[in-house]
Formats: sequence, structure tokens, C-alpha cells
Amino acid sequence: MIKEAKNKLNNVFGFEDFRPLQEDIIQQVMDKKDALVIMPTGGGKSLCYQIPALLFDGLTIVVSPLISLMKDQVEQLLQYDIPAIYLNSTLTPKEYEENVQKVKNGEVKLLYMAPETLMMDKTRELLSNQHVDLFTIDEAHCISEWGHDFRPDYRELTKVRKDFPEATCLALTATATPRVREDIKDILKFGDSDTFLASFDRKNLFLGVAEKDDPLEQTLDFLYTRKKQSGIIYCFSRKQVEELYVELKKEGHSVKPYHAGLSKNVRNRNQEAFIRDNIQIIVATIAFGMGIDKPNVRFVMHYDLPKNIESYYQQIGRAGRDGLRADCMVLYDRSDKQKIQYFINQKEGREKEVAEKHLKEMLKFMETDKCRRKPLLGYFGETYEKDECNMCDNCLSVDAEVEDLTVQSQKLLSCIVRTDEEFDAYYIADILRGSTKEKVLENGHDELPTYNIGNEWAKEQWILLARMLVKQGYLERKEQHGALSITDQARAVLDGKENVFGVLDRKDTVVGDNAIERTTSEVENNYDKDLFEQLRNKRKELADQQSVPPYAIFPDTTLMEMSYYFPQSKDNLVPIYGVGSVKLKKYATDFLAIINKYCRDHDIEEKTDLIEKKKEKLEESGEKFERIGRAYNDGKSIDHLAEQYGVKNVTIINHLKTYLKEGNELRPEGIVEASSLSTRKRQEVLEIMNEVPTHMLRKVYTELDKSVGYNELRVMQLYYMAQQNDS
Ligand code: ADP
Ligand code: ZN
Repeated sequence: MIKEAKNKLNNVFGFEDFRPLQEDIIQQVMDKKDALVIMPTGGGKSLCYQIPALLFDGLTIVVSPLISLMKDQVEQLLQYDIPAIYLNSTLTPKEYEENVQKVKNGEVKLLYMAPETLMMDKTRELLSNQHVDLFTIDEAHCISEWGHDFRPDYRELTKVRKDFPEATCLALTATATPRVREDIKDILKFGDSDTFLASFDRKNLFLGVAEKDDPLEQTLDFLYTRKKQSGIIYCFSRKQVEELYVELKKEGHSVKPYHAGLSKNVRNRNQEAFIRDNIQIIVATIAFGMGIDKPNVRFVMHYDLPKNIESYYQQIGRAGRDGLRADCMVLYDRSDKQKIQYFINQKEGREKEVAEKHLKEMLKFMETDKCRRKPLLGYFGETYEKDECNMCDNCLSVDAEVEDLTVQSQKLLSCIVRTDEEFDAYYIADILRGSTKEKVLENGHDELPTYNIGNEWAKEQWILLARMLVKQGYLERKEQHGALSITDQARAVLDGKENVFGVLDRKDTVVGDNAIERTTSEVENNYDKDLFEQLRNKRKELADQQSVPPYAIFPDTTLMEMSYYFPQSKDNLVPIYGVGSVKLKKYATDFLAIINKYCRDHDIEEKTDLIEKKKEKLEESGEKFERIGRAYNDGKSIDHLAEQYGVKNVTIINHLKTYLKEGNELRPEGIVEASSLSTRKRQEVLEIMNEVPTHMLRKVYTELDKSVGYNELRVMQLYYMAQQNDS
């Protein structure tokens, strides 16, 4: 059973291995045992019911609380040619009726619905005539009043469940709170043995907290090293959202705001723009995020202190669903405490007590100097065993040594003087690094003696130095435009009478290079960024044509692997992450064209050896008959396959037979090719096979007066079976 699941994982979804627990959960479901799955966001819950849905004969129902989630899931499944639909109020009556018809005709494998749709008489009536194998409750925490998004409708599900006595029930949630988990178990009557609890450690999330001193500048610094990446910035208030949005917009960032004060229309539009990669950044209140399945959110920044650990965890959970590294940063102002305390003080009794406890736990996380994963996971009842995670600021903060930064400071200060103290750190850094930006050239600043004298440092380092000089009193920052001016103290530095010492504190803004090396994979570090960009554009174009989000076409990891392995043929695309058979058919030509051209133009060779290794790994996990069956259907002859695998024809025929029996189809014409019998003789054999059970070759042999040998009969037997299957 689980082999078939693995095949689906490889061939349909194009993934190599199961993630932790997926295999056990699928096995449980296929054994028709109920299960409760508690797994963090990005853990891979969807496959736990999508793969069984493909393996079961009957229908899989998925109850989901949000229309946007259903739509997203269905769009993604349709990209794999998996027949999935939803029934909800956004459909026109005609579409609704069409979908109902599809269910009646048994053309659907997965049916998504909100609980209220499921509860309707007409739905229950429709489903009473269907064979339902799997009843999935997604976002199962909605069933609990203790959860943050309790939905009374969810309570009714326990009743509806009885409508499908044959169906296995699979409930899924990412809730981290023990109390809610227990509640779900009680309500749905799950035992401990049916509960699959994954670790809530999201290893690919980098956790950081920075002292909030100049939040706008800090945010700009943070964004500076994250150009073209998608991210969310959470603010405490609507007002703050609007202000920050305007500032970021002014700096040329691709950004939209989101909060409950905006009309529903505007909110939807902005959310959609984010999901479709039309914009990179969303500045939002906590109103944003429910129903966002976007896998390539590369950062989540908290401009203000989150309300409590739970919401913090939930919000950072939206980052890095694809498993690639993502950065989470909180700007922590100790006085934010008071803001929250103010709200707490308006509460009373038990409620106040709880809120106070939450705040305390939150501060524990903010103020620790140990690994941040300890207080975070500890809050959810999990012990983080390791001393260091290497993926939080505390684990990476090496005791940097104080350096003499006089020379660089002189360069920076003198550049500020020469531009009449009218510009901000970004612009000064541009001049120092010899930027050819329009503004620099227009102002004639490429003529300055300080132009292009600072290439020893990256732009971000110059910006950090400027910040340090402000802190040490050498520079002042004018409120409005961030223009820098020098103080008297700076004159001494310029005159060579005073040296500047300091540590370029990189911890609170950007993550050092060595951190990235230690925590990301070879592919993530070394893929070709330019090719990636071209593939990304292609993906966007294809996505827009079909009105789906880009990640429904391929996730970022796929494009990254393409830009690392440089596959040059369809065959070599197969082992790439996320390339299953259907997507291969749909998109190979488009993407190969770009890769091929790029490699030609830049004299780059395919990493053939590595691709072969990847292939071997896949093949080891797949079944031989599967590979042979597929190769055969792709046009390889039986002779060819026998030679390729160094076996006799009859062995190949046996594999193909197994392939057929496993419910696959074979192209019959290629089988006849392998027969050396005359057309008339073949006809005669087939007629006899029509009379006697096909597996009894001995009988056929005698009926034919032993005039046709067994090997020939085997070929004809396969042909006979393939045709029967075909019709
Ligand atoms: P969840 O619902 O738990 O938040 P998803 O089901 O959306 O997580 O999965 C998160 C991402 O991980 C998706 O992009 C999905 O395609 C990918 N994924 C899931 N399982 C695997 C796997 N076994 N191998 C590779 N990628 C996977
Ligand atoms: Zn750590």
C-alpha cells in the first residue's frame, strides 16, 4: 500500500521523500483508521489526505473553513490534473450545478466544502448516493471554543460524520496550544493512538529580535538585503500600517497595506496582488494572514511587539512553508510593553491574569540571551534538546571584536560634507560604491573625489557604519528625509585627530554570510540567480495566463533546482523537485527553452552527473515495473528495454504485465510489434484467448495444437490484456 503512496509522491507531485509522519499518517488512513494530525504550518498536512484520495476508489470530502483556502488548494490540484472541485457560495448557479453533476458522475476525487455547505440538505442528499472513503476536517481547531477562530458550524461536523459510516475521518490542524488539541480530541473522540503530533520546531525559520531604535531605518536595512523577496511586516495599529506603507512606498518598495479599516474590496485586491507576486511586501495588522497558503514568504517582520507567543508563532508560521530558509525579525522596544499592558489593564479577573501571563512568556522570548527556540517551543510544551539551533540571532552572535573603523569613517564623513549634508545613508553609500544610478549622475556626484572609493564594503555595511556613527554622536540624522549631517566631534575624525572604534553590529539587521552557509543547502546557496530570475518571469507569465498564483505552476525550489542543475532535456527534468508527470507534460517545453538558451549564451553545462545521481535515488525508491511501464509507454520498444536492463524479453513482458495489473494502461500497438506471428495467426490466438481464461496459457497452447511457442503466447497475452484494459 505504502509503495503506491510513494509512487504518487514521486510521479504525481514530483517529490523525493515523505516528510516526517506523512508516511505513517497515510498508512493509517489507508488502513481505514481515523487520525488526528497536529503538524505546524508548512509541515505538509495536505498530502496526508491528497495521496489517499488518489488511492481510494471513492470520494474524499475536505471540510475547510475558508473559501480562499479551498480555491487555492483546488487550483493547485488541477495543475496536477487531479480532479478536485469545491462547492461554495462564490460559484454561479451554473457552475454549482456543473460541479454537482461531476460528483454525481463520479468524476471527482476531492470535494472541498465549508461546513455550512456540507450541512445543507441538498448537499447531504447529494452525498448520500456517493461512496465516500475519506472525510477530512482541515483546520480542525475551528471546532474548539478555546481556539482563536472558533466556528460554531464545525461543531455540527460530528453529526454529519455519521452520514458516512464507511469513511475514515482525518482531522488536521496546526494549532500549537495543548488545550485546543485536547479539546479537538475530546470533541471528535480520538484516542492517543490515533493522534500524530509533529515537532513544532520550524527549522528553516531564522528567529531574530532587534532592539528597536530607529525602526524605519532598521526596516529599510532589513529590506535592503531582501530585494525581490516576498514578505509580511506586522504592525500593531492601522495607523502604523498606513504610515509605514507610505514610507516604504516612498523608498520605492513594491508594497501594499492590509488592515480591517480598508474596504473588503481593497483588502482582497491587496492580498491577491501579494499571492500572485504582483507586489513583494504586505504591511499589515494581525488581520492579515488567515487563508494565506503562499509557500514562498521569505520573511515576516514584526514592527511592533506581538501580542503573545501564540500569535507570534502563528504569524511567523506564514514564512517559509516551502521549507527554504526564511527570516523572522521582531523590532523590540521595551516600551511596547506598556502599550500592551495598557490593553491588559482594561481587562478584569481571570482574563487579565491570562493576558498578563501571555505577556510574561512573550518577554521571556524577547529578552533571552540563550537559543530562542527554547522559550518558544517550551511555551508549547516541547523541550528543545539542543544547546544551539544555529538559526537564531543568539546562537549566531559571535563576540565580535572592536575594530578601528577610522579610515572608513573618514570616507563616509567626507562624502557627507561634500554633498552638503543633504542626503541619507543609502545615497551616500551609493556614491562611495560608485553607483551609476540616475540620481547620482544627475547630481554630478560621480565627479566627487569620494565617488567610487568605498568598494571594499557592501552597501549594507556602509549603512550600518552610518548608523553606528549616529549612535556614537559623530552624525546626526535629520528627521524628515534621513539626511545626515556631521557634528563637531566628527571634525576631529576628519582632521585625523580622533580615531573611531566600534563593532559593526550586524546581528540586529542582517544575517551574516556564514550563517547562511551553515543553514541552507548547497542548491539554495549556489543556484544561478540570473537564470532563476528568467524562470520566475516565465512562471509569472504562465500563471497570469491561467489566473492562478505562480506557486501553483512550480514552487521556488523547482526553479532553484533548475538553476542549479541546468537540465537540458525532459528526461533530466524528471528528477527535479516538484516535476511530476503532468507538470512535465505541461511545462517542460517552456522552461527547457529558457534553460537551454541560457546555457548556450553563458557557456554553461548541465550538471549531468548530479542529475544522474538524483535519478538513481528516485529509481531505487520506485518499483522496477513502474519504470519499465513508463518507459514503454513513452515509446521504448520491448527489445530496447530488454537490452537496456540486460534481461530477456520475457522478463520485460512480465514487468509490463504487473504494470497493467496495478491499474495502469499500456499502448497496445507496441506489443504487437514484438510479435513475429502473422496477422492471421495473431487473430487465431486472440480468438482462443476470448474463450479460455487468459491466465491459462497452457490451455491456449494446446488449443492451438502447440503451433505457437510460449514466448509468443506471452506477448499475445499481454496484448490481449492491454486491449481489454483499453476498451
Ligand atoms: P501545511 O498544510 O501543513 O501547512 P502544506 O501541505 O501546504 O503544509 O505543505 C507545505 C509545502 O511543502 C507545500 O508547498 C508542499 O508542496 C510541500 N511538501 C509537502 N510534502 C512534501 C514532501 N514530502 N516533499 C517535498 N515537499 C513537500
Ligand atoms: Zn538558537
